[in-house]
Amino acid sequence: MSLENDALRARDLAVLWHPTTQMKDHEWLPLLPVRSGRGVWLEDMDGGRYIDAISSWWVNLFGHANEHISAAVTRQAQTLEHVILAGVTHEPAVQLAEQLVALTPPGLDRVFYADSGSGAVEIALKMSFHYWRNAGETQRRRFVTLTGSYHGETLGTLAVGDAGLFKEAYEPLLMESLMAPSPDCFGIDPEHWDAHAAQKLQALDDMLRAHAGEVCAVIIEPLVQCAGGMRMYPPSWITGLRALCDRHRVHLIADEIAVGFGRSGTLFACEQAGVTPDFMCLSKGLTGGYLPMSAVMTTNAVYDAFYDEYTSMRGFLHSHSYTGNALACAAALATLELFEASPVLEDNRRTARLMREAVAPLESHPNVGEIRQTGMILAMEMVADRDTMQGWDWRERRGMQVYAHGLENGVLLRPIGNVVYFMPPYIINESEIAQMAEVAMAGIDRAAGL
Ligand SMILES: *Cc1c(COP(=O)(O)O)cnc(C)c1O
Repeated sequence: MSLENDALRARDLAVLWHPTTQMKDHEWLPLLPVRSGRGVWLEDMDGGRYIDAISSWWVNLFGHANEHISAAVTRQAQTLEHVILAGVTHEPAVQLAEQLVALTPPGLDRVFYADSGSGAVEIALKMSFHYWRNAGETQRRRFVTLTGSYHGETLGTLAVGDAGLFKEAYEPLLMESLMAPSPDCFGIDPEHWDAHAAQKLQALDDMLRAHAGEVCAVIIEPLVQCAGGMRMYPPSWITGLRALCDRHRVHLIADEIAVGFGRSGTLFACEQAGVTPDFMCLSKGLTGGYLPMSAVMTTNAVYDAFYDEYTSMRGFLHSHSYTGNALACAAALATLELFEASPVLEDNRRTARLMREAVAPLESHPNVGEIRQTGMILAMEMVADRDTMQGWDWRERRGMQVYAHGLENGVLLRPIGNVVYFMPPYIINESEIAQMAEVAMAGIDRAAGL
């Protein structure tokens, strides 16, 4: 019955090399050959259907083949698909920048486009460093990052992340970051989150004092360290960090690539902390999951430090061929229109509550140590033992069993190690949530050998 699926799989394995994949795994783990998508559903070559519980790596907001976004991209393709952005401008690029300035926290008044999340982080790092260089503080060349953080997989972004295996292999090629403890509240009663986070801030304060004058910026993932296992912490830590950055005169880079555009419960996670970072990196949901695009938002104070006669050599030096791509801008504008068209954030609060209620049976599960949630991200952490909260050894690859169970039962999950999570498109409905939760819970039982 899986004739067409198998045919495409075989052709794929003859020529393709997949991202972040040990290709040998596909000797036993079948690739999912997707022919089409609609709403939260993906359909394979033989008509099998799967709920996209992870929004295709967290990029999709309003479903696959969304009529409104598709129509906007089609219209744009018939007018202007792409044009160089150096020395040239176009309506979609300007309109999108105007809207991003209006929507992001006050003070983020400048937009620099790129084409991927990593690209945006690289730009923020270079801009911060270059800002200090232009200010005559050339000894500032270090970045402070957090344990458990992830900012991408290019050499610069790996260097400011803590992506375990992903980083170790390339360590000799990377610049050295300063690693501060994450405020990660895993295993801590929500009542004590603020106190826990405040304590972690102390170490950061000490680090910034010890490295006075050497640090360009602190880079964080606001509220949720996603790739690090959907580890969460309270807004108060970000508020405290903003004050620390001001006191020690270093930039704050907020990487909202995963949590931006409503994922955290507010349009941007920094809003919950009442904070304006010096740089905000946006991507993933920016185009509703349609096209690769990213943006770095910054302040006029940063912009002005680069603004001078050409011969002063203070200008910012960075470009990508597809910067400001018109199709991507059109997809992003259509995505923002969907936020206007209905009370998305309000509706998401109900959807988030339904997701939480659907996994309530796991509260007493012997191998679920914690169920945590920030907005439209819900994570279930599998543990070998609830008393010690120890996870299973990573070599056992128990999360892969949940993944395989999901594929066999019509749900695309993609656990991160021992962490099973839901990060579905916002349009998921009640019965789809029930199915997603049922399959995930059965998958956890299977991984636990129950
Ligand atoms: C996905 C992600 C990135 C990298 O974005 P790419 O588009 O994959 O390069 C950076 N930071 C965070 C927080 C992310 O989730």
